Amino acid sequence: MEQIVLRHVTKKFTTKTLGDIVAVDDFNLSVEEGECFSFLGPSGCGKSTTLRMIAGFEDLTEGEIELCGKPVSIKSKNLYVPPENRGLGMVFQAFAVWPHMNVFENVAFPLRLQKMNRTDIERKVKEALHHTSLDGLETTYPSDLSGGQQQRIALARAIVTQPKVMLLDEPLSNLDPKLRETMRFEIKELQKKLGFTIIFVTHDQSEAMAISDRMMVCDMGKIMQIDTPENLYNKPINRFVHSFLGESTFLNVVVRDGKVYAEGDDEQPLDLTIPGDAAERMVVASRPNAIALTQDEGYQTFVEKRIFLTDRTEYIIPVGSQQLKVQTPHRISFREGERCCVRLLEPMWYPMEDEAAEKERMRRQLV
Ligand code: ATP
Repeated sequence: MEQIVLRHVTKKFTTKTLGDIVAVDDFNLSVEEGECFSFLGPSGCGKSTTLRMIAGFEDLTEGEIELCGKPVSIKSKNLYVPPENRGLGMVFQAFAVWPHMNVFENVAFPLRLQKMNRTDIERKVKEALHHTSLDGLETTYPSDLSGGQQQRIALARAIVTQPKVMLLDEPLSNLDPKLRETMRFEIKELQKKLGFTIIFVTHDQSEAMAISDRMMVCDMGKIMQIDTPENLYNKPINRFVHSFLGESTFLNVVVRDGKVYAEGDDEQPLDLTIPGDAAERMVVASRPNAIALTQDEGYQTFVEKRIFLTDRTEYIIPVGSQQLKVQTPHRISFREGERCCVRLLEPMWYPMEDEAAEKERMRRQLV
């Protein structure tokens, strides 16, 4: 069953210095019950604004939102359900726990707002603390707890009302990398146990990939692609998605007389099959670990730079006037300056992105 539905959701802001910004441009998406769905994209792409509209903290400029089968925002009908009546659990980066309340009171707070009786509050808080491994810490104050435990208080406070949908906005960004990994796992476990649907906002791609069933990648207020982590990585729809997920290396190429030349080298063609719809100028993308580095097969060049990484070796290889990043297992070893050949094993072709897009991306991050 569809639990969160956005139809033609748009949000415009007018800023004094930089004029109009379409922060969210005609978003259409639906999230299924029990799914963990991430919003992913660079700063300023519209992730938080979308989440805030779902939560009800921000009105829409156009469109409608449905939660658990009920409309909560319909701009054309001026329908707007306030956040407290949307039945959501939320953990936001900025919503720290309240330092003047002990753990019990922090978690009990949403139930007190609902005017629940004392016995039920005690039972529900106990359950929530148990689910988040905070048993026995009821009378402790947040300042006496670790960062991870404080984040668990925020989680306990979010699940205590047994919401069907949880909105998590960069909930792990204040934690150190090791703790982030543990908490990620704990959130997934909690979801399995309690069965809620998650919308997770992050700009950390590996975090999103680890936690999500599906992800939405957006850029400059537009949805670029919605798919599983595997498909987004293996079949990115454009250059932006390719570069945003995992490591990428790109070559600008020119297609001429049935052959492909890297910009800066009109003589030695690349060993590539040209797709039917290729324009004269294109970008060819590859993962750095999907390039064969050999003595004699492919485009002849040399090793400009060799970098030893913990689990692989990275090479910078000139191709025409450009540089290709190649990563190989340690057993394939070339010295700096040594002659070599490169061949792209799984090339992906994209149109050239215009410079205006890059300028607009920068502008949005400055507002
Ligand atoms: P981040 O990862 O930095 O939080 P984001 O992807 O969540 O970024 P949003 O916060 O949704 O991006 O912002 C999208 C665009 O809307 C940005 O250009 C931002 O500057 C602009 N914006 C957001 N809120 C407002 C506001 N209240 N007034 C004016 N512009 C805003």
